[in-house]
Amino acid sequence: ATAGSSGSNTLSDGQKLPPGVVLDKDGKPCRTCTSAASWRAMLKQASSSGGIAAGAAAATSTTSIPPPPPPTQTDCPPDVEELGRSTWTFLHTLTATYPTTASTEKQTQMRSFLGLFSNLYPCWACAEDFRNWMADPSGKNEPRLSSRAEFGQWMCEAHNAVNRKLGKKEFDCRFWEERWRTGWKD
Ligand code: FAD
Repeated sequence: ATAGSSGSNTLSDGQKLPPGVVLDKDGKPCRTCTSAASWRAMLKQASSSGGIAAGAAAATSTTSIPPPPPPTQTDCPPDVEELGRSTWTFLHTLTATYPTTASTEKQTQMRSFLGLFSNLYPCWACAEDFRNWMADPSGKNEPRLSSRAEFGQWMCEAHNAVNRKLGKKEFDCRFWEERWRTGWKD
């Protein structure tokens, strides 16, 4: 998985990193923008190529790239996928517990949260694409916050925009409430 169209995976000296490795704005590999698989590929490439090793080492300054978690180990820093899954759980649950009809104050708070969230999300490339999606010039992706039904549908569409970008299957938004609020009907 790649963090997004905006992420470059070429080091400042022109050396190519494996697909999916996204660099931070300071030119160092971004752990929270990169999947564990791509991170492992980068380390493998670094160990088998002096040139890349030198480039990767330069990109991570004095410290070496932290080793990826062995498959059985838990309690490790999240990669882009684990961070994403946890965040979607939070975001959809936010919509599931939103008022059926939201006061103006609640809508203002949520609009402000989404603005901050889309600037502060730890995968910068994901955040940038998310902000751009919300700011589509047509206005069609502006947060719809007047009710739980609207907000839940909007969040589902936001998630589907990321699913599409990553080549994942889209979720049928008619069922967002069953997935995130009521549970599936038997
Ligand atoms: P996830 O996409 O994390 O979904 C978790 C669960 O949500 C699914 O199992 C399903 O039950 C349910 N679900 C799926 N789609 C929907 C929907 N539309 N509505 C409601 N429920 C749904 N990763 C990148 O590599 N690049 C990016 O640019 C990127 N941008 C992101 C932006 C944001 C704001 C967030 C929160 C995450 C982003 N991610 C990005 C992470 C990515 O979306 C996934 O979370 C990650 O790839 C793990 O995917 P997954 O297949 O486990 O399921």
